[in-house]
Amino acid sequence: MSRPDSPPAIKRLGQNFLIDPNIVRKIVALAEVRPTDSVLEIGPGRGILTEALAQAAGRVTAVEIDPRLHAHLTERQADFPNVTLVLADALAYPLEQLPVGTIVVANLPYYISTPLLFRLLEHRDRFPRMVLMLQDEVADRLVAKPGHSDYGVLSVMAQYAADMRKAFKVSAQCFRPRPEVGSAVVLLRTRPHRGLSAAEEPQFAALVKAAFAHRRKTLANSLRDEGYDPQPVMEAIEAAGLSPAVRAEVLSVQQFVELSRRIPA
Ligand code: SAM
Repeated sequence: MSRPDSPPAIKRLGQNFLIDPNIVRKIVALAEVRPTDSVLEIGPGRGILTEALAQAAGRVTAVEIDPRLHAHLTERQADFPNVTLVLADALAYPLEQLPVGTIVVANLPYYISTPLLFRLLEHRDRFPRMVLMLQDEVADRLVAKPGHSDYGVLSVMAQYAADMRKAFKVSAQCFRPRPEVGSAVVLLRTRPHRGLSAAEEPQFAALVKAAFAHRRKTLANSLRDEGYDPQPVMEAIEAAGLSPAVRAEVLSVQQFVELSRRIPA
């Protein structure tokens, strides 16, 4: 039976569809999906990755925002009976409904890749690992180490929640239409709270944001400019054994955690 025609791509929804089966195979292999696993795919699009995931996994939940693509995949449901097709915005979809242990595999829509990533990390107690296609530049910021020019809020917040590595780059030729930016696949292995309780994490996030708000200033000055009381900040910097002139960009994630514990909100 011939397949129904796929609807044309909509640029504003980040629709750059993978067309290279080798990349699909590499993504599924990196995710180490087994027949008993539950998988979440965000943005199944025309289904190239969905089909491969369905073959490897026990169950796949595929959340797509575009009703045309959702309808297109529904017509092809017989090709992947173990896939639950959901028409929803992944930024609003209730992730807590998914089983603990679900693996996330997605070629993310780039216009919302960062908020989606943070939403997934907020629910990391149910996602042991994620394999995500992102803009290459975002991937570099995610994995950047202290002292590197790419190191910033995104690096600290993501590395707080997960160990990650950039697994491989993907050429624009592997998509239709071709994206205007480079792409890369990142493997994230999530970790539970790292020395902070869930209740302390908003304070940690606020501190990291304020610390990087004025990159060329010292940490103490950047925090002061963002409304922190200078006295406890200086005490915390000294107690952590850091120079009073230290800058945010050289602090490790663990040092941010220590400072967050010592600096009152
Ligand atoms: N997985 C397919 C592939 O690899 O060819 C499509 C990937 S394409 C980069 C991103 C997909 O995410 C598109 O199908 C797009 O419609 C969908 N999408 C965009 N915004 C979304 C959102 N907020 N929630 C769920 N899906 C979304």
